[in-house]
Amino acid sequence: MATLIQDVRVICTAPEGINLAVVRVDTNQPGLYGLGCATFAYRHLAVKCIVEEYLKPLLLGRDAERIEELWQLMHQNAYWRNGPAENNAISGVDMALWDIKGKLANMPLYQLFGGKCREGVPVYRHADGRDVEELCENIARYREMGITHIRCQCGGYGGGTFGKAPATAPDGALDGVYLDARQYIRDTVKLFDEVRAKIGFEVALCHDVHERLQPVDAMRLAKALEPYELFFLEDAVSLDRLEWLRELRQHTVTPLAQGELFNNPYEWKQIIAEHLIDYIRVHISQIGGITPARKLTIFAEQFGVRTAWHGPGDMSPLAHAANIHIDLAAPNFGVQEWSGIEPPNFVIQELKGPRGALLEVFPGLPEYRDGYVYANDKPGLGVDLDEAQAAKYPCENTVTIWTQTRRRDGSLQAP
Ligand code: MG
Repeated sequence: MATLIQDVRVICTAPEGINLAVVRVDTNQPGLYGLGCATFAYRHLAVKCIVEEYLKPLLLGRDAERIEELWQLMHQNAYWRNGPAENNAISGVDMALWDIKGKLANMPLYQLFGGKCREGVPVYRHADGRDVEELCENIARYREMGITHIRCQCGGYGGGTFGKAPATAPDGALDGVYLDARQYIRDTVKLFDEVRAKIGFEVALCHDVHERLQPVDAMRLAKALEPYELFFLEDAVSLDRLEWLRELRQHTVTPLAQGELFNNPYEWKQIIAEHLIDYIRVHISQIGGITPARKLTIFAEQFGVRTAWHGPGDMSPLAHAANIHIDLAAPNFGVQEWSGIEPPNFVIQELKGPRGALLEVFPGLPEYRDGYVYANDKPGLGVDLDEAQAAKYPCENTVTIWTQTRRRDGSLQAP
């Protein structure tokens, strides 16, 4: 009997104060459904609308087992392609179809991807602090947990948080996240100098520029950081300055990771083929789900580029599980960003929702133990959604402020 799509709907929930969007695809087979992540935290209603108003009518009655056919069908249906809202909508359905495929096969997804290359997935965590002292305390707590890769910043990306314009801005300058690029570079080099002096070279350290520098300044930073042997420097140039990676590559041996903002294969094809980066770190729902992510993994493998998928708090446990299943089966896996659940005594980042809520809403979230994340062996993604629990944490639609990043003179720049 063919497995036909009978219903497609979106469940929005915010267990930890971050808006998450989940697609549920139901089939004509009793009890057989799939779940996928369609989280675009800052535009969740737009994604819900695309799924329920445009994709659902396209998909009803179709064969749920034809994932590739349905991915192409959704991708081409609106004629204009590769927008972030559209890609997240497609991702929700795509992951749900893979989840169904795994349940039909009675296998966890990593088995369908060729089986495990490793038993667990090494992860990196993000450590911040108001100063180096506090940062080193947080690094020490992660090391106690067994974490071997740590991304370091002081005082938020670029060194600032949202607020009133500083005295250095012109009179009347607007509120924002103010960034002084020269100061940030000096502070960051000093930060790594002090951190390495305190903790040595055993821990792999990363740093995220978050696109907040001009390319030539990024080159200066990447060169200045060489003595501290970074595992990688993340998003050193912005999405619309990718051609500068050629110059950056010629001037530094600091490994480069790029891509959490990518939506379109044109953004990664050339930089991988020219091996201008060492790690590709797309946000899987942002490129359309598991189907394109698996193709990207295999493509990157051909050029010696490793994966380091984006794994922030603003993605659902279903997306974390998708990352982990792909990581387990990828020979060219590098490291996985992880913002998942740890034992409560290791809590470092404060949450807006109650601790543990994420696990109540999404039973089956991959488990962290002593430096590694493990997928469970349930069929498909292995993560479920408790809709009654999800309903306890409604999403809020608010104006996003952290993306209002401003230069010293008050003008906007990429966040
Ligand atoms: Mg980043």
